[in-house]
Amino acid sequence: MISLKQILQEISHKEFNLQHEYDRLNHELFSGKLIKIPLKWITSNRHGGYVDGIYNKNTGYRINYLAMNKLYERDYDSFINLLIHEMIHVYIMQNNLQEVGGMHGLVFKHEVDRIKSRGYNVPLSDDITNIKVASDIKLKPLIALILNYVKGNHSIIVIQNNINTSTTETKELFDRADKTLIKSVQLIQSSNSELLKFPKQRNFVYKPKLYTLQENIYKNIFDDVTTVIIKELH
Ligand SMILES: [Zn+2]
Repeated sequence: MISLKQILQEISHKEFNLQHEYDRLNHELFSGKLIKIPLKWITSNRHGGYVDGIYNKNTGYRINYLAMNKLYERDYDSFINLLIHEMIHVYIMQNNLQEVGGMHGLVFKHEVDRIKSRGYNVPLSDDITNIKVASDIKLKPLIALILNYVKGNHSIIVIQNNINTSTTETKELFDRADKTLIKSVQLIQSSNSELLKFPKQRNFVYKPKLYTLQENIYKNIFDDVTTVIIKELH
C-alpha cells in the first residue's frame, strides 16, 4: 500500500525547480564552487540523468550541460539524490580529477561517502532499472514484434515504422523464419513503458537485433490495456 507520506512526496518534474535545487546543493555540499552550467530536462530510456561534457587532453573537460530525465517518477528525495549524483560528475569534470575504475570509480565513491555523512543517500549509479514511468507522461504507442519460440521463450523487436510497413514485414519475417524454432509472431501496438527500454530499430527484415523478453515483462505487456494485437501468425 502507498503511504500518505509517499503520496505527499510524489512529485512530477514540473514541481521541481532544477536551478534552485542546483544552487542550494552547490552552496550546501560543494561550498558554492561548482560552475554554473545549463540545466535541462530530457526524456531518456537509459539514464536517470547525465552530464554532457567533452574531454580534451590539453584543456581538460568542457561541460555542456546537466540533464535530468523527466520520464521517470521519483519522490522528492530521490530526485535530490540523483541531482547530487550528477553534480558529483560536474565536480570531477570541472576539476579534471583522474577517476580510477570507470565513471563511478574511487573518486566518485569518495564524494558519495563525504555527502552521505551530510545526510544524503546518493545512488552510485544513474541507470533507470526498476524505476516507474511518471503518470503524467503520456507515452506515444510503439510498435513491436514479439517472437514466440517453440521452447516457450520470447524475443522482441521494437520498431520505428508505421503499422502498414510493419504488417508487411511481419509476414516476410515469418515466411522466412525457421518454424522448428519459432512457433508464432505477434505484431503489437502498445504504450506499455517496458517497450521504452528496448532500442527502436528501423525494420524487422534487415538484420533486426532480437532482444530477450522476460516472461514477467511479456505478461506485463499483454496485461496492459493499451496493448493491441495488430497481426498474429502461426
Ligand atoms: Zn553517474
